[in-house]
Amino acid sequence: MFKNVIITSGPTIEPIDPVRFISNRSSGKMGRALAEVGKKKGIENIYFISGPVCEYPQDVLLIKIETAIELQNEVLKHFDKADVIIMAAAVSDYRSEKYYTDKMKKSNEVIDFRLVKNPDILKELGEKKKEGQIIVGFAVETEDVLDNAVKKFKEKNLDLLVLNELSDKNPVFGSDYNQVFLINKRGIKNVKKSLKRDIAEIIWKEIEDIKNNNV
Ligand code: C5P
Repeated sequence: MFKNVIITSGPTIEPIDPVRFISNRSSGKMGRALAEVGKKKGIENIYFISGPVCEYPQDVLLIKIETAIELQNEVLKHFDKADVIIMAAAVSDYRSEKYYTDKMKKSNEVIDFRLVKNPDILKELGEKKKEGQIIVGFAVETEDVLDNAVKKFKEKNLDLLVLNELSDKNPVFGSDYNQVFLINKRGIKNVKKSLKRDIAEIIWKEIEDIKNNNV
């Protein structure tokens, strides 16, 4: 049904100096499950754009990136031919304003450290979206989860938003399980806590429904 699919996965890492970086707790397990289920469905080309993780899926066109800017460049390179774009990567919202070519030395008790905003890649893709393309975003929220997610779904011109509620009961990062809400134009679905692999099956079914029914 789909020929070219982009899946972004894992964390981005934003270097500060040759030894340090800013990153997040994404394990890439959800992105990997989405690629594996996509392959099982017979999708020919999966452009799997991934930050550094422990395990990558097989049989994908693997593109390794580190920073948000690298991820943006790679997504844009393949965007026009993509039928589906799934942005499962946990992209760092900020990066260090400066890259220190030498290791930063210990000095004062407190240091000022400036961060600058990374581009919102998903928003850019929503603005560039062409007829027939399906864009899936992910969100992790800790407060006002549904209100924020519905706002995000609309603002970014998405077809589907997968919302992870981060809580003690649902640690999300690194876990094989997840509990999500799926938001599309028809409304909100609650998917009970399940293996990420099973959630990937449900997400793909939702994407196929969107394609078939123009949801
Ligand atoms: O707005 P928020 O960061 O919560 O949105 C999360 C979604 O946006 C994810 O799909 C993530 O891959 C994407 N994202 C992005 N560019 C950023 C930050 C997040 O494309 N700078």
